[in-house]
Amino acid sequence: MRPARALIDLDALRHNYRLARALCGGHGGGGRALAVVKADAYGHGAVRCAAALEAEADGFAVACIEEALALREAGIRAPILLLEGFFEAGELALIVEHGLWTVVHAPWQVEALERTPLPRPVDVWLKLDSGMHRVGIDAADYRDAWQRLRALPHVGAIVKMSHFARADEPDCARTGEQLANFAAATAGLPGESSLCNSPALLGWPQARAEWARPGLMLYGVSPFAQAHPAAAALRPVMTLESKVIAVRELPAGEPVGYGARFVTERPTRVGVVAMGYADGYPQYAVNGTPVAIDGRPGRLVGRVSMDMLTVDLSEHPQAGVGSAVELWGRQVPAAEVVARSQTSAYRLLCAVKRVSLRHVD
Ligand SMILES: *Cc1c(COP(=O)(O)O)cnc(C)c1O
Repeated sequence: MRPARALIDLDALRHNYRLARALCGGHGGGGRALAVVKADAYGHGAVRCAAALEAEADGFAVACIEEALALREAGIRAPILLLEGFFEAGELALIVEHGLWTVVHAPWQVEALERTPLPRPVDVWLKLDSGMHRVGIDAADYRDAWQRLRALPHVGAIVKMSHFARADEPDCARTGEQLANFAAATAGLPGESSLCNSPALLGWPQARAEWARPGLMLYGVSPFAQAHPAAAALRPVMTLESKVIAVRELPAGEPVGYGARFVTERPTRVGVVAMGYADGYPQYAVNGTPVAIDGRPGRLVGRVSMDMLTVDLSEHPQAGVGSAVELWGRQVPAAEVVARSQTSAYRLLCAVKRVSLRHVD
């Protein structure tokens, strides 16, 4: 069997969830956190991750009803929020049947709820566009939308919600502006609020509210480009690893791999690892991107191909075919791979596929 696999440390996942939850709420704490498990839990396996968290999580958030129903079919009973809401009014019956919560982010969704009587009340998260300008109700229309929903007998709780565009930039004024816009648009409307994604929860205490929606931080990767003290206690959840499947002893001046992006400067031992961009390893990781070889620091050399990549074994005389190679995880911070790969931490994790996921509890 091909040795490429991703170990998923469910203990670390719970540790990170507790950390996130401890940051929720106002200054006294006491808030709640929906664990965001969209996109197959950022590549970590949504069903296994949700099951590992269910005993303590206040609920889950996914992008769409397809993802929510997969969790329900797997026996997850906790509340699940649909972050993109419903795509057509016909979904509302299923939303109620399966006890889901839905975001309402557009006027047509308010109208659909007005036109669709439901057998039980549905809880909605009414999303304000506070400045990201992606989805959300305009500030001028927010109060009206809230009041129309409040008047419906088949709408339960209404959580006031918004989303930040630049919370991962610690010195950016935009997050403060979005906060002020949210406060103004929702002033006087009763009910709970939810603003924070991972970077806001970690970096913007003034944005904390009754509900948070942490995603990336649950998986133990910092959303910040620079080291950030609040993210220091996160534990990596995914360890992506494989093995050396071939070794080449090359003299100086020999090219390695596609495009000869690496040329040996001296006699070099090169190890070929069963891991490529079709597994999710970034194709554009540069020469020198860190790896760990049999537990010791090593480096990538040459262009990553679809199924294989190459590492420098010159400083690893003991390593050979069968040696373990970690691409990121416990020994190699994913953030260091991100910094050398023209990608983001989000995309790095979501891109993982084809490798077997092994959940460790
Ligand atoms: C994906 C998502 C989140 C989670 O964001 P992270 O940065 O991964 O914590 C929170 N809220 C909304 C609306 C999202 O779409």
